Amino acid sequence: MKIITASVGGFCFGVKRAVKLAEKACPKGQEQGKVYSLGPLIHNRPVIQDLSQKGVRIVNDLKGVRRGETLLIRSHGVHPSILRKARKKGIKIIDATCPFVNRCQRLARVLVKEGYRVIVFGDKKHSEVKSIVGFTDDKAMVAERPQDLQKAVKGASKVGLLSQTTQSKAAFGQIVVALLELVSEVKIFNTICQAATSRQEEAKRLSKKVESAIVVGGKNSANTDRLASIFRNARIKTYHVEDVKELKACRMNGHKSVAVMGGASTPDWITKEIINYLKTKK
Ligand code: SF4
Repeated sequence: MKIITASVGGFCFGVKRAVKLAEKACPKGQEQGKVYSLGPLIHNRPVIQDLSQKGVRIVNDLKGVRRGETLLIRSHGVHPSILRKARKKGIKIIDATCPFVNRCQRLARVLVKEGYRVIVFGDKKHSEVKSIVGFTDDKAMVAERPQDLQKAVKGASKVGLLSQTTQSKAAFGQIVVALLELVSEVKIFNTICQAATSRQEEAKRLSKKVESAIVVGGKNSANTDRLASIFRNARIKTYHVEDVKELKACRMNGHKSVAVMGGASTPDWITKEIINYLKTKK
């Protein structure tokens, strides 16, 4: 089996930064249990387990975090009301929101101030989208597909459009085209992150060269899931696995070539383990 390793993949800038900030904040000795992450810091089980061993505890809300303790905000960002509440409670905040997500939040806030109806193209349930909407005092509307726009622009004479950072450019383009049919004044910001785009382009390129693909990363990671979809849409047999153990259970056989690619929240060592395992398979 020919193994082709993706030329881009693994931790993106925002994830690297979040993990570094978490490791730096990790408690020593007696201080164990005083650093909390609001939700899993990144969508990757082994990394979360490692951080947990170093002392980072996951909480789903602020109830379990006391004055003087530390709260890590993950790269997706959070609703600003949570930041306000945490500060009021005297909780020390380490904000690992990715600067590219910060940019979306700021742009959304400015657009609302300028009187635009803000539309965020993305997944309504995703934390990043929720955080961007939060920065508009929940005034922004979310469009997951062009069909959602009619309702989202109702009553608006001018619209500001942003995208969730991990969306595909092609899908964003469809939203832009549909929006121009509905509103005459549209301000568009391309907020799709280059790290996400370059990984998606690499997946497209590889899908023309291989019979099968292994996408390594968390099942709940938006960007990893998108990479797997690209291969699947190109009718490539795709294995989306979190680690080598899961791949072993897949019993993949009969493929002449395979592409291996890690998502933006997948550490390189997990992808390397997969490659080493594949090399043992003849
Ligand atoms: S994919 Fe882009 S926006 Fe998202 S965390 Fe990584 S660098 Fe930041």
